[in-house]
Amino acid sequence: MKILKILINQFLEILFPTKCIGCHKYEDILCNNCINNLKITERPTEDNIYALYDYKDPIVKDAIWKLKYHHIKYLGEKLGKLLYEGLIENIDEMKIFQQGSPIYIIPVPISNEKKENRGYNQSEVIAKSFCQSGNPNLFLYQNKIIIKNKNTIPQARLTNRNKRLQNIKGAFSIINTNIIKGKTVIIIDDVTTTGGTMLEIIKILKKSGAKKVIGFAVAH
Ligand SMILES: [Zn+2]
Repeated sequence: MKILKILINQFLEILFPTKCIGCHKYEDILCNNCINNLKITERPTEDNIYALYDYKDPIVKDAIWKLKYHHIKYLGEKLGKLLYEGLIENIDEMKIFQQGSPIYIIPVPISNEKKENRGYNQSEVIAKSFCQSGNPNLFLYQNKIIIKNKNTIPQARLTNRNKRLQNIKGAFSIINTNIIKGKTVIIIDDVTTTGGTMLEIIKILKKSGAKKVIGFAVAH
């Protein structure tokens, strides 16, 4: 049934011109007017983690929901591009550009079980689009460095920072530590919560010798 649902959605996407999820105007999956009105997040994140939009914005919430549960992959591509445009200045400011060595772009992995159910990892869609939005020599998309070992309780369901840290501890492994040594890495996720997944991944990448690791999320 899941496959059938995916196929029907893809068929509908081809058949009908793209309608904005915010105002339902036939323009794009998110029209420019709605994009300009999305609430930029003002809530603080953890050190070295940057988020673009406020997850409380109903259109932002809906976009991420539809990307995850309605198989609208194109929304992820759009969000990846917006993430690039919205946060590229931060990269400039942080002076993390390295001469001759590309920045590794790593999507936050989901468990195999989840990936099979959903058909794709939404963070991979966002991260790929993020990479393609910039200078091709600058970024290198790497989705085979980190894996998620186990299914965890969704972080957003846990009420405090400590519970989240505990829930995610040991959930990820680095497959290839050699290629991470001395590298600058940007981790990409759809939503970041305080004390969440990104912190754990930053920690294990640093432990493996990465030079600088930062996290970018579409929403917080
Ligand atoms: Zn709109």
